[in-house]
Amino acid sequence: MDILAVSVNQPGFQYELHALVSAFYPGVTVKVVSNDDLTSSTGGLPDIMVGINGDQALFASFTDEGPQDVISADLDGVTDKAVRKQLVGRLVYMGLNQLTGKRLPWGTLTGIRPVKLVSGLIRDGLEEADLKEYMQTVYMISDEKLALASRIAMIQQPVVDSLSPEGFSLYIGIPFCPSRCLYCSFTSYPADRCEDLMDPYLEALFREIDFAAERFAEIGPDSIYIGGGTPTSLSPERLCRLLEKVNSSFDRSRLKEFTVEAGRPDSIDAEKLRVLKEAKVSRISINPQTMNPETLGRIGRKHTPEDIIRAFEISRKAGFRNINADIILGLPGEGPSEVKRTMEEIEKLSPESLTVHSLAIKRSSKLKEELREDVSRGAIENTEEMMRLTSEGAARMGMDPYYLYRQKNIAGNFENTGYAKAGCYGIYNVAIMEEVQSIVALGAGTVTKRVYPGGRIERCDTVKDLKLYLEKTDEMIERKRKLFDGD
Ligand code: SF4
Repeated sequence: MDILAVSVNQPGFQYELHALVSAFYPGVTVKVVSNDDLTSSTGGLPDIMVGINGDQALFASFTDEGPQDVISADLDGVTDKAVRKQLVGRLVYMGLNQLTGKRLPWGTLTGIRPVKLVSGLIRDGLEEADLKEYMQTVYMISDEKLALASRIAMIQQPVVDSLSPEGFSLYIGIPFCPSRCLYCSFTSYPADRCEDLMDPYLEALFREIDFAAERFAEIGPDSIYIGGGTPTSLSPERLCRLLEKVNSSFDRSRLKEFTVEAGRPDSIDAEKLRVLKEAKVSRISINPQTMNPETLGRIGRKHTPEDIIRAFEISRKAGFRNINADIILGLPGEGPSEVKRTMEEIEKLSPESLTVHSLAIKRSSKLKEELREDVSRGAIENTEEMMRLTSEGAARMGMDPYYLYRQKNIAGNFENTGYAKAGCYGIYNVAIMEEVQSIVALGAGTVTKRVYPGGRIERCDTVKDLKLYLEKTDEMIERKRKLFDGD
């Protein structure tokens, strides 16, 4: 099956339905349509129908013989929109469970921040037993995932408490990389072919930095994160100019962490590391993704596992004592034995933190196109066993899980988890995932978020296209000014 059509007779449920059905059918394109759209887009009948009327919701699958597996949920007297959504979500989950025989570890939770939900309930005073009953009744979450989310909520609490809700963290995006990874859906341009755009990009970025420095003259950032892309794709001279600009523009008195992604080992050398160190960068991230050479080739990364080992060596030599390593589970051709090997190699490198991603196959990635067949027959997958291998490896390195988020179309419908040794928790990661404070994000393809006291959140996007960003820098600045000047 390539396409699965789901019809729903009311607006407002599309996003959740799409996420839930996609989680049950990895690799299949799910189309959620209204009843009116059925004739044109699906040839008349849906594969699955969800009907919501005043006091009842219905779920049915369709075959040539008409509706099958019809089940219903009672909505009588339920007027709260959120509760109606939860009940419909549970009904659809049960229907899909009946159809496929599958259970999802996160149940009906489709949002990307399950820990934020759990932390909020704990803060509201829910005791362990009540929390368990609530999360299982409402969201059908597994015991294991609830235990993980609760543990992370507890571990990250001191970091959350250290961040002022009136303060902010600064994100700067550098959209250049040595080559494009097969699974990439970020704003990223090949460094060698965009050399002529690097100086104009920095100039535009500096105008954004001037705006942010002026707008936040009273208060410095709690954390700074320069990501992308691969910031270390810039030459040492450009990197130095960027870091000097950041350091001279913002008050560092509140600064708890300054991270630069040195993601690709083929983008760093001793000179760039010296530049980072002199600029008082406190944390870097070197991202192996896998330590298997065949996979690195397959996913379009032009470096070897030996390059990663060398990158760690020169970074240690340069004085970095807080290094993160990212890996991805569910890469094409990788199963438990490849993950085991990666973990053995990472343990030898002894990073201070490890971020374990489950591969998310995004619409805009080359992976979706090039491995379409593998994706649809489920050959690219993440498993409980692979997740366990990484959590056990992290524990052996003395790390605890401290942040977690989920994405759409994530392999195995699992999660991304950040592990770290005590005192090395990535502060920016907690700030952005738990939405504790505003994020001022500068550069192409970034998203700025204003977090108001009380938790309301407003966002504004910066255009992704590099040339458009250069043309519209002033407009992007105005968008941010409006966001932070508004009520
Ligand atoms: S390093 Fe990251 S941003 Fe760059 S191409 Fe690979 S996935 Fe994309």
